[in-house]
Amino acid sequence: MNTTAKNDPTTVIAEMTAPYVEHQEFPDIVYPTSVTATLAAFRRSFPAATRLVPEQDDGAAALSVHSRDYVDFVKEGSRRPEGATKFPLNVIALPELRVSEPRTFEGRHTRYFFDEVTRATPAVCEGALHSAAASLQGARWLADTVAAQTAERADRPSSSSAALVLVPSRPPGHHALPTVGGGLCLFANAAIAARELSRSGRVVVLDIDQDHGNGTQAVFYDDPSVLTISIHAEGWPHVAGFSEETGGPGAPGGNLNLPLPTGSGFAAYEPALETALEAIGRFEPRYLVLALGYDAQKEQGFGALRLETEHFGVLGRRIADLRLPTLVTTEGCYGYYESTAEAATLFFEGWAERWR
Ligand SMILES: [Zn+2]
Repeated sequence: MNTTAKNDPTTVIAEMTAPYVEHQEFPDIVYPTSVTATLAAFRRSFPAATRLVPEQDDGAAALSVHSRDYVDFVKEGSRRPEGATKFPLNVIALPELRVSEPRTFEGRHTRYFFDEVTRATPAVCEGALHSAAASLQGARWLADTVAAQTAERADRPSSSSAALVLVPSRPPGHHALPTVGGGLCLFANAAIAARELSRSGRVVVLDIDQDHGNGTQAVFYDDPSVLTISIHAEGWPHVAGFSEETGGPGAPGGNLNLPLPTGSGFAAYEPALETALEAIGRFEPRYLVLALGYDAQKEQGFGALRLETEHFGVLGRRIADLRLPTLVTTEGCYGYYESTAEAATLFFEGWAERWR
């Protein structure tokens, strides 16, 4: 097995890994293993990849997508002593219920998270801040790399180029909206990267997590410079993710949802993937942001989708075939280490095979 990255000097591959995210256990998140598994797989497939370390930014990257009061809430969460916040809350803050503003940090969860499983523990908040910073800085690295490659091609028109950066992110991000988090997501990492990249060209965000990327959709729903695509099992979060959600008045066609019936396997998934790839081709983006989750694998996500592990190899190859400058963020998986590690391995081996 040879999975070394292509030797072409214009193929540039890197990871932007915050040490905090790589080494932190995240005990309150149901799937702590995916960063470990993803990094191991990525490093095996791309042993020559540059290892970049993001600088901490005190929430600046998160502010590119999220409201200041929400970012301040997460920053406060990162500073609280471990165990100081008492759960569960058992309150759903429907507008009809809300008479006064919450007065405690616990109470502010009802304001800033749309579900009860998402909790602003110190580790999760710190991880969110690091992941947001890494997403922004990974995007800047990608944009700079592509600019340099474009300049080089002007000198040598026959040269080909490609660029890939992995941003291992924990907590995940694709369910986080501009003013609230939820679904275990605090900051919208893929959206933070996409917004930065959209400063220098059109961007597609492709979300292959089992669940709908409702947060990413919300961020760009009316933004014609970013096409958001999500392939997911129908259902959660019940109030978004349907095929008729095709973009706001300022961006008609700017969102593509490809929901699949619960229990679908690759026979249903593959045509949806092809539809997504065709839409990406038509949009002619300068960059791709991939929200990579493994929970469509059949042992994970309560079987909402039933991909075999080997199908992640197909996904890696098909998405790599786009040959777009790509930033990858890590989304869901459900703590089944073996299937996560195997899916990650096959995904990046498939990608490396195509870019060799
Ligand atoms: Zn998921």
